[in-house]
Formats: sequence, C-alpha cells, structure tokens
Amino acid sequence: MKFGGTSVGTGKNIRQVASIVSQYSKEYKIAVVVSALAGVTNKLLEVACQAKKGDEKLVKEFIYEMLQKHKEAVDSAITDKALQEKVSQIIGSIIAELEKVLTGICYVGELTAKSKDYVVSFGERLSAPIVWGAIQDNKLETQCFTGKEAGIVTDSNFGEADPLMNFTTHLVHERLNPLLEKKIIPVVTGFIAANQDGIVTTVGRGGSDYTATILGVALKADEVWIWTDVDGIMTTDPKIVSTAKLLPQLSYQEAAEMAIFGAKAMHPRALGPVSKENIPIRIRNSFQPEKQGTLITKEPLANTKKIVNAVAMIKDVAMLNVNGAAMVGAPGSYAKVFDVLGRNNINIMMISTAASEANISMIIKRGMLSRAISNIEIALQEKGGLVNEITYEDDVAVIAVMGAYMKGTLGLASKIFDIAAKKGINIRMIAQNSSELNISFVVKEKDGIEVVKAIHEEFNLDKT
Ligand code: ADP
Ligand code: ASP
Ligand code: MG
Repeated sequence: MKFGGTSVGTGKNIRQVASIVSQYSKEYKIAVVVSALAGVTNKLLEVACQAKKGDEKLVKEFIYEMLQKHKEAVDSAITDKALQEKVSQIIGSIIAELEKVLTGICYVGELTAKSKDYVVSFGERLSAPIVWGAIQDNKLETQCFTGKEAGIVTDSNFGEADPLMNFTTHLVHERLNPLLEKKIIPVVTGFIAANQDGIVTTVGRGGSDYTATILGVALKADEVWIWTDVDGIMTTDPKIVSTAKLLPQLSYQEAAEMAIFGAKAMHPRALGPVSKENIPIRIRNSFQPEKQGTLITKEPLANTKKIVNAVAMIKDVAMLNVNGAAMVGAPGSYAKVFDVLGRNNINIMMISTAASEANISMIIKRGMLSRAISNIEIALQEKGGLVNEITYEDDVAVIAVMGAYMKGTLGLASKIFDIAAKKGINIRMIAQNSSELNISFVVKEKDGIEVVKAIHEEFNLDKT
C-alpha cells in the first residue's frame, strides 16, 4: 500500500492511514510506502535553489518551518507520549542533518543533480517515521526503512533513476520478506533509493508510486494499492472538471497512456514492473476508503465501448522547433537531433514532422528547454551544421484524448479539432501514435482548461 502526499499531509491524515493499515492487516500481509507530506518536495527543491545562491537566512527560516510542520504532524498522528517523544527525536536529528546539507550548499554555491536528490530525499525520510509511529500507536508491529535500506538499488541517473530489478528483488526479498512472515509491517520511504555505491537517488517526481510497484514485484505481492486523494483514475482531472467520472477498470496499457498524458494519479513508469508480472493495481481514495477505486489489470475498460473515455492536460511543457533545409532528404538527420537530446537526458514527449522534412517539432519538459536549445545549437547549428533555425514556445500545454476503441474511428480527429476551433482556440501541433489509443495536440497553456472542459462535455464523459 502506497500513501501519497495529501494522504500523509497532516497528522490527522496520517492517523487515517494508520487506521486503514490496521484494518487491512487483520486479513493481509502489508508493506507500506509513503510519500513526503504534501508540498514538502517542492519546497525542498525551491530552497535548494536558493541555497545555491547563498541565501543562508532563508535556509534557517525553512528549517524552522519544516521542524514545526513535522512536529505538529507527530503530535496529532501519535497519541502515546513516549512514542511521540521518540519520533520527535528522530525528526529532530533528520532535520539537523538537512540544515547541514543546505548550509553546505550555501557555501559551495553548487547544486548538482546528485546533491539535489540528496536534498529532496529528506521529504520522505521525514514522513516515514511519523507513519511508522502512528502504526505503532495502533498496537501493530512495524519497522521503518529508507528505500536504500529496503534494498532498492538503481542506476545513477539522478533525478530519474531506474531500479536494477534483479538485484533489487534479491535484496528486498531478503530484507522485507522475513518481517512480512512475522506480520511486522515495513514502512518504506517512496521516491528515494540508492545507486550501487550507496549514493542517494530518486526515481522521478511522483515516484513513490514507482517505489510501490518495484516493491510489489520484488515481494511478489498479490496486489499493489495506491491510496491517493481522489476516487481513482477519472475521465479527466477532477480539479479541472468537477463532473469527472471514475473509470472503474483499465488495462495496463490504457492506464499507462493516461499516466503519461497527465493523469497524475499514477506515475507512468510505475506500470512497467507490475504489468510484466501481471500484478493488479488499485487506485483508491484514502479519505473514502469504502470506495472501490480503479482496478488496473490486463483487461481493458469494462462495460463500455465508448470511443473516447478520458481527456488530460499536461502542463509545464515546451514546444521546440528545429528547422533546417539541410535536413531535407538527408538520411539520419532526425536521428542526429534525437541523439543530441538523448545524450543530454532530455526526454521527448511528442514529435511531429512536416512531410517536407525541413522541420521537427518536439514537446519536452519546460525545465529542459534551455538545455535542449543550447545543446542542439552547439552540436548541430554552429559552423553551418544541419540546423539553421531553432524556435520555441514555452507557454503551451498538451491535450491528450484517450480511448481504447478509438482505433479506426473515422472523423474522430476532425470532431476533436472542431471543438477547439469553435472555441476559437488555435492548435499548435498534432500527433497520433499508431496504436491509436490517443490523439494529442498542443495549445497555448491559457486555453488548456477550456479545451479539456469542452471535450469532456462534447464526448459526454460525465455520463460514463
Ligand atoms: P499523490 O500525492 O497521492 O500521489 P498526486 O497529486 O500525485 O497524488 O495525484 C493525484 C491527483 O492527480 C489528483 O488530486 C488529481 O487532481 C490529479 N489528476 C489529474 N488527472 C487525473 C485523472 N484523470 N484522474 C484522477 N486524478 C487526476
Ligand atoms: N514526494 C515525491 C514528489 O513529490 C514523490 C511522490 O510524492 O510520489 O515528487
Ligand atoms: Mg503522485
């Protein structure tokens, strides 16, 4: 069972988590994975950037704020005074370490991907002991682990690391299985792990879901349950469209498609390990645990032959256009562009090319834009290279329209684009992959919510 940021966001919520664990532990052997308290990971990243600029005063203020926030959570999550004291001490010493790390960054004025991972790891390192305390408060036996201590070993791609699955399975099995056998509940930090040298890594933003499925596979779990703050995976983000409906059942492929295209309720890479092993996932609401949520298995969406069943918006992306007359009819020219981005660890989320071959448009994460431009310029534009113009738009969003029965449906794309046109919204780029599970297009970010609402309504998704 994995509990997300909002589910462990306050002491009261953590008590609810402990009660869910307690209830299900009567029937099942459970391993628990926890996220950082809501908002903490973002704050850690912000402060790390400020620390790099030498802002020691801000670091001090932040440390005080963190201490307050986590102490408050301890006090309302745990009733037993001795236990409260014990967890408070653990929190205090972890925060003291965080202060040293951030102060160090102030002095050296450097923040590498590696040190960034170390800083953000504190979010989960602080939440796990509180959940551990709250479970003990419910008179259950439990033990707390960091991802590294649990045995999750990754490559060294800091910020987006992937597990070395064979090694991880071996270690996790060795370390956690004996506890499960004795009905001791392991509480493991989500998101963070370590490389083979023991250096802290993270598996990407929102990665606690991934930790849960990695552990699920390593422990040969019957199911992986992702407890979050909404009822499950829905027809669109319920924060955008309040009439969004729950999708009770999805296949791994459908869920992956939705996760990649912005259904934050599930981390896209999390589905990889479980789909291979055929382990079902349930996404459930920790605030309404009586609801069944979304079940993800091999089977496609049950009881519906709807052509479109979900729509999503991905923000924080940028469109990068690379033009060059020399690219026309030159075999391997796209490969050169992709190679430059790949070597610099920049993931391309969407591609569209013109038949004239003089242009490639790509969608990448907005934060990667300057790295992408500078590297393409150095590698391919300088000294009369392949590329003669690089342009970009950094205020766009991708809208993805998804459905398992889209394949071969005539006129669907034109209907979708007509909806945008009627709203006077300009489409900047279009892509449809050959699996035809998804049509994606790019609009200005300011228009995104309006298009999502219009598509949700026109395809009657609120009547699913
Ligand atoms: P957690 O902290 O539990 O991991 P996240 O914030 O990562 O939670 O993901 C849950 C959020 O995902 C929801 O609060 C919701 O706003 C957002 N979301 C976006 N699209 C969808 C969707 N199609 N279905 C469900 N939730 C969605
Ligand atoms: N705390 C991490 C994040 O905010 C991981 C997670 O919550 O899944 O990205
Ligand atoms: Mg999440």
